[in-house]
Amino acid sequence: MTYFSALELLKSAVTGDRHWTAQWPEAEPKAEYDVVIVGAGGHGLGCAHYLAKEHGITNVAVIDKGWLGGGNTGRNTTIIRSNYLYDESARLYDHAVDLWEGLSQDLNYNVMFSRRGCMMLAHTVHDVQSFKRHIHSNRLNGVDNRWITREEAKAICPPLNIRPDARYPVVGAAWQGRAGTARHDAVAWGYARSASSRGVDIIQNCPVTAIRRGPDGRVAGVETAKGFIRAKKVAVSAAGHTSVLMDTAGVRMPLESYPLQALVSEPVKPIFPCVVMSNTVHAYISQSDKGELVIGSGTDQYTSYSQRGGLALIEHTLAAIVEMFPQFSRMRMLRLWGGIVDVTPDRSPIIGKTPVPGLFVNCGWGTGGFKATPGSAHLLAHTVATGEPHPINAPFTLERFTTGRLIDEAAAAAVAH
Ligand SMILES: Cc1cc2nc3c(=O)[nH]c(=O)nc-3n(C[C@H](O)[C@H](O)[C@H](O)COP(=O)(O)OP(=O)(O)OC[C@H]3O[C@@H](n4cnc5c(N)ncnc54)[C@H](O)[C@@H]3O)c2cc1C
Repeated sequence: MTYFSALELLKSAVTGDRHWTAQWPEAEPKAEYDVVIVGAGGHGLGCAHYLAKEHGITNVAVIDKGWLGGGNTGRNTTIIRSNYLYDESARLYDHAVDLWEGLSQDLNYNVMFSRRGCMMLAHTVHDVQSFKRHIHSNRLNGVDNRWITREEAKAICPPLNIRPDARYPVVGAAWQGRAGTARHDAVAWGYARSASSRGVDIIQNCPVTAIRRGPDGRVAGVETAKGFIRAKKVAVSAAGHTSVLMDTAGVRMPLESYPLQALVSEPVKPIFPCVVMSNTVHAYISQSDKGELVIGSGTDQYTSYSQRGGLALIEHTLAAIVEMFPQFSRMRMLRLWGGIVDVTPDRSPIIGKTPVPGLFVNCGWGTGGFKATPGSAHLLAHTVATGEPHPINAPFTLERFTTGRLIDEAAAAAVAH
């Protein structure tokens, strides 16, 4: 396996970059594994890494219908934050932020985690009340989040329009300094390399067509384009396609799949130092390390598996961006794309056991699962390895939709997400 070090980089600089080897081998499926993970996104690959590293379980396959990281992991706008309202969510997302901070070292792979801060703009009295409620709740949970005035917001983010005659004037903001961004591809690649080096098979271009159960009702394995693979445990981490797959095991999921779009501008010099989000005009923006402005908003309003969305939403998103940053009105947009996100009724994820013994699921991350990648992967690995949830993911059950113990971040955010 290729290890990156200053010495290796120096060596390649003087030898024409010819000595690098593949970072993970192409694996062919074995007849049986202890654990099969469906979905080689950040969550699935991360789960394999933690299963191997922390639980010593290495007879594992991660299977993807396409190329690894080609799902939402490689399509998102990379915002990382943990300022959610409810205690359960704050613990979950802050666990992830803790892991983000040491992830490059853990993987020996630069995931370019950048703690540049995230500001959530308040434009109305309702926004002020809602964000202050979040701030108080977060601070009680030890999660950093503080109120800043519009002048402080402008000082942190100079392009921000704080003129009082704007249609939705900025009246202040919630500021999480510990929030930021990371390089999404590097996250998938770093986890893949680490898992593979510990003996995990990564099998790409191999759709899983069904989950099979044995006569005792337990999970027996998965049908794939490369044949049946037996498995003692199966973990599904297939984002927007989870409900279709779980259906084959007889498990009905409380999920709807929507297209979520994003777009980037032409690259420009560093002008945008943090992440800015506005739920009221509904758009968010940051700048990538390549210089592109990275822009997104909410899901399209219809369910679909098409991986592309409607132009009307993009038009609305750009109108919101220009409202907050009028000077960007003359920038050209370079490309736009979509991903299929899996949304639960309370907009919180499901990480845990299912009614089928040996079958686990990690889904429902909707528009916000990138930020959770290391945390969710870590907790899923714990749940798969021990057969019981970790205290942090214990509330994020599938049963909550029948018991009614919801974690209603949908209502808390008061925005489609
Ligand atoms: C445009 C956009 C912007 C976003 N912005 C943010 C953001 O700023 N911050 C944030 O926190 N989150 C964001 N998200 C959400 C985030 O990207 C996801 O929640 C997260 O990446 C999910 O990771 P995952 O590993 O679960 O899923 P994925 O990366 O989608 O991985 C699932 C994998 O399962 C595979 N698969 C599906 N079905 C099968 C099958 N039958 N057989 C085999 N393989 C299968 C897919 O090919 C895919 O590779 C955004 C999403 C989109 C689309």
